[in-house]
Parts: sequence; C-alpha cells; structure tokens
Amino acid sequence: MNAPSANPSPSLDRQSLRPDCGNCFALCCTAFGFTRSADFALDKPSGTPCRNLAPDFSCTIHESLRPRGFRGCTVFDCFGAGQNVSQKLFAGNSWLEYPETKDGMFSAFKVARQLHEMLWYLVEAQERTFDPDSSNCALKLMKMIEQALDGGLEALLSLDVHDLHAQVRSTLMEISDEVRASYFAAGDDHLEPWLTPGADLMGRQLASRRLCGADLRGAYLIAADLRGSDLSGVDLLGADLRDARLEGADLSQALYVTQPQLNSARGNGTTLLPADLMVPAHWGASPDGN
Ligand code: SF4
Repeated sequence: MNAPSANPSPSLDRQSLRPDCGNCFALCCTAFGFTRSADFALDKPSGTPCRNLAPDFSCTIHESLRPRGFRGCTVFDCFGAGQNVSQKLFAGNSWLEYPETKDGMFSAFKVARQLHEMLWYLVEAQERTFDPDSSNCALKLMKMIEQALDGGLEALLSLDVHDLHAQVRSTLMEISDEVRASYFAAGDDHLEPWLTPGADLMGRQLASRRLCGADLRGAYLIAADLRGSDLSGVDLLGADLRDARLEGADLSQALYVTQPQLNSARGNGTTLLPADLMVPAHWGASPDGN
C-alpha cells in the first residue's frame, strides 16, 4: 500500500464527522439530482438549488419534510463534508455570491462526501482493532484521505476514489473479521448459514435473536423485525435498514453503523445506539418509531 506514515490529525474523531449545516452552503440541497419518488417529492436536476431552499441556505419546510414527501432529506447525512468544502476548500465563499464556483464546489462535495464516509468507518475500525498492523493500516488510510481533502480542488477532483475505496474496504473487512471472531466460542453455531453478507432478509422475523458476530455487510434488512435483538459485533456496513424495526434492539457494539442507516429505520428510546450516533428526530414521533 502506498500510504504516508504520519498519523492523522489528532482532532479527527467521529464528532468532527458530523454535519454542521450552519456552516454549509446547502450543498446537499444543490449538488445532487433527484427523480421524483417516495423519498423526494419532485424532480430536481443535479447542480440546481431545490425549490424549497431559502436564500440563507435553510430549508423552508424543515419542520414538515416527512409529511410533505421529502423523507430522503431526513435520512441523508454528509459526514461533515458540507462544512469542510464550504469553509475550508472554498474559504467561506458561497456559490450564491460567486456563481462561477458552482461546478467546482458541487463536484468537490460529491467526492468529499465519499471521503468523509470512509473516514467515519476508519475511525471506528481503528478504535476497535487490537491488531497493531490493522490499526496502522487504518491510520495510514485516514492520513491519506485527510491529505486528499486538504490538497486543494484540483487534487481532490483528480483523486482515484475507486482505488482508495478498495483499500479502505479491504481494511474494514479485515478488522470486521477480527472483531466478529471475538463473539464466537469453539463450536458455537448460534447463527444460521443464511445470515450472510448481502443476504435478502427483507421483512424477515429476527426479533429477540442473538445475532452477535454475524456478517450482514450489504444485507437487505428492509422492514426486517429486529426488535429486542442483540446486534453486538454484527457488521452492518452498507446494510439496508429502511423501515427495519429496531425497538429494544442493542446496536451499541454493532460495527460500521451510520446515521443515515438509523435515520431510515424505525426505533425508539429503547434502541441502544453505537457511540457518536444520535436518536433520529422522527423516532420520537410515534410509539413505534415510524
Ligand atoms: S426539501 Fe429542504 S432539505 Fe430537502 S433538498 Fe429541498 S431544501 Fe434541502
């Protein structure tokens, strides 16, 4: 791996990878394009402001996004890329004041969002591994990503994200293997063979189950019933948790969970969350977390 050896910035933790919308030029409401769907109630070409966006970069329907058909906006999370691109890469100069910066800023945001998401996973992986080689590998990748983010617009846009993603994925999987193995004793067969990466578990009844150590990376858990289940050490990297029932589930030690996954699921105050993740605002809206 061609990675630098220096450590990432000491300030890099998952709190710094949380969105700060007040310091962002609403890049998620402008850069991406959407086709009208159950998650977004209108067609919006990429690189254009959403018609619900106010001139001060706030959302005019923020308090009623779900009932108005913009559920997707309550699920999205930029992992802190928005404020980074707005305030650091473009020095606080908005695309509204300087329209000629639009294309570069929106393109940079799309790349930076992917890099910030990788950082989110790597911080957790580095914290959870006990293997010094794996830890060092994660640290080097974090440093490489930080350098890419700090290297200016041209360097960011010419980055081989695909290659970087492959390196990150390999490290995350290695650390996942290590972490998940700690949940199995010799001869332990508490998991069925169909609990695999990418498994189709849509609507599956998995309530009150001990799923510890399962590899459910990329699994389709849409509307699955996970109420009261123990998900300690379960790899949920990229798993689709839309409308999954998480009331009473223990995700406190689950691996690679993100805020968008939680935002798309259903839960309530009895759901145990991993550190640095927040209870989605809409979970409190009804007793079943819908
Ligand atoms: S509806 Fe609001 S939050 Fe969603 S894209 Fe439009 S302005 Fe942004």
